[in-house]
Amino acid sequence: MGGVTVDIVDGHSHAYQTFAPSDRLKSTVGEIEGYDIGDLLARLDKIGVSRFQTMPQEMTRVQGQWLGSNKLSADIQRSAPGRIVAFAAAEPLDRASAFNRARLLEVERAVREDGLRGLLLTPPYGHYYSNDKRVYPFYELAVDLGIPIYFHHSHMFGSSRQCPLKYARIWLLDDLTIDFPDLRFNVEHMGYPWTEVLLSIMARSPYVYTDIAMFVGQEPAMSRPLLLARNLGMAREYGVLDRVFYGSDYVGENVDEYVNLLGTELGHIRSRLGHDMERLGYPPLTDSELEGLLAANVQRLWR
Ligand SMILES: [Zn+2]
Repeated sequence: MGGVTVDIVDGHSHAYQTFAPSDRLKSTVGEIEGYDIGDLLARLDKIGVSRFQTMPQEMTRVQGQWLGSNKLSADIQRSAPGRIVAFAAAEPLDRASAFNRARLLEVERAVREDGLRGLLLTPPYGHYYSNDKRVYPFYELAVDLGIPIYFHHSHMFGSSRQCPLKYARIWLLDDLTIDFPDLRFNVEHMGYPWTEVLLSIMARSPYVYTDIAMFVGQEPAMSRPLLLARNLGMAREYGVLDRVFYGSDYVGENVDEYVNLLGTELGHIRSRLGHDMERLGYPPLTDSELEGLLAANVQRLWR
């Protein structure tokens, strides 16, 4: 396993997308201090990372802010389209809990005209349910456009008000696999703490994926290396390991921080994960399983 070299893909990040009030969003890379995509790409080359995904996140309803913006996301992708896969973000309901038609049109334009490649929805941040029929036009649009949706649909460390678990219950997504069988979607963070339920949904729904973001981060409360090892072992037993992928979930504009985070996490996956899996009684990842986790699986989701 240690000898395998693959072009690594960071399948989930918010690189260059930072917090800002909803009425003061950046829309071009010119507004990012010291933006130098050539420098970042050269440093990613050195650690074997060939592509990364980045996405904004709308949190207008509860927090009155975004990470990045849809326009900024498009401009980031424009700066290196072969190596950056950028998504849009949306809250399907507005602050008055009415259907957010303006955002639906914005997402459609961002994909058709600006070439964004997917959509992020974060129901617990926005205090709505993913199977609420008012959200369905966004799923219809994603199927029409052929783009994947990423969901934050899990627990989140920090204040419970920011992410009430009732909006994250994982089996709400089962309705989507019934009503939109062709919708491709990723459930971030292995849907913790409902990982086994998610894996069972994945076992019967071939277009549902999951990422391992935030399992081996530096902050102790968020670092759960043995759970990562267990979850990958379970994913193999459910026959869905080829739909699990790596993502850093980096948020920010600091190239040093981003490259260091990637280095730490990829180092863990290469040198520690196999031992942890064996300790728990699971065979370590094979070379091809590792290559899938680090690169191939997410690229199948993006198409
Ligand atoms: Zn994220």
